[in-house]
Amino acid sequence: MSKRDYYEVLGVEKTASTEAIKKAYRKKAIQYHPDKNPGDKEAEEKFKEAAEAYEVLSDEQKRARYDRYGHAASGTGSGFGGFGGGMNMEDIFSQFGDIFGGHFGGFGGSGRATQNNKGTNLRVRIKLNLEEMVNGTQKTIKIKKMKVAEGATSKTCPSCNGQGYRIQSMNTMFGQMQTQSTCGQCNGTGKIAAHIPNGANSQGLIKTDEEISIKIPAGARDGLQLNIRGRGNDAPFGNGTPGDLFVVIEEEADANIKREGDNLHQELYISFAEAALGCSKEIPVVGGKVKIKVEAGTQSGKILRLAGKGLPSVEHYGKGDMFIHINVWTPQKLTKEQKEFFEQQIKNGEMKAEPSGKEKTFFDKVRDLFS
Ligand SMILES: [Zn+2]
Repeated sequence: MSKRDYYEVLGVEKTASTEAIKKAYRKKAIQYHPDKNPGDKEAEEKFKEAAEAYEVLSDEQKRARYDRYGHAASGTGSGFGGFGGGMNMEDIFSQFGDIFGGHFGGFGGSGRATQNNKGTNLRVRIKLNLEEMVNGTQKTIKIKKMKVAEGATSKTCPSCNGQGYRIQSMNTMFGQMQTQSTCGQCNGTGKIAAHIPNGANSQGLIKTDEEISIKIPAGARDGLQLNIRGRGNDAPFGNGTPGDLFVVIEEEADANIKREGDNLHQELYISFAEAALGCSKEIPVVGGKVKIKVEAGTQSGKILRLAGKGLPSVEHYGKGDMFIHINVWTPQKLTKEQKEFFEQQIKNGEMKAEPSGKEKTFFDKVRDLFS
């Protein structure tokens, strides 16, 4: 395939200055721009040919080699090394910034029209109990999302010919400049409604219930957000990819167990008699129950620590602890016999409060928890 002379391609003299070459290329690039000549293969070839000529002639060294060896220099390694004809559209457009200035930033036919063709994202909240957050779980939830309505159809936007944007030429002191703006009729999607069924919106979408199964990883925390790609709302008329679904994890308040970092706390109420005689109790923990022993003579306010029965740490290896706060329940209703019994105890000076001085104060306990 014989190549045209680069000077001929740009329509300049062999002695043309760099400025003159740039100016000539600008003219050709605008003339053969693919957005101006949609579907015209010949224009596209000319557009590429001009870009290649400019690439060589605008570079002093490449131009000197070309002047000496002509096209024979291309593809030989010592010459234009793989450059000859190998320029793709992206290379060409990326070069435009230098030539046309900022106005042309991002200008480029392919792919441009799809920029707004993504469905919107959806966000749902999902409540999990401690157990589910710690161990992970599978949840089926109902979401309401916008889906393409049956029978909804679209057609190419007549304002922009499906491009999604419009090119406007302006005369400025630097010559003719071109700018692009998003097409107002189709909002950049390149499509407008052809048929909209009853109940659907102007984008051919209708609110639909959907059940979706979500896998929650172990170790989830309150506020964690899971991103599920492509499970959001459909793109207008289904022309494009659906948006994403964001699932925000919320921790369900637990009536018994309070959380503090990796540690868990719960209150345990025992009777006056159980405190006096000692007892054993089953305590709910994450992943089941454990039996604990309450010593005879346990005082109200005592805190028992179950090491490793808290939550897996997110910052480091290991688990937090479970703290059991013991509350001795003072009887509020007494039978006649019980009343007499207690009255007798007081009379005889029995069951007196006799702190030994070794009892921990509230502040000691708090300090112990954080030491
Ligand atoms: Zn349009």
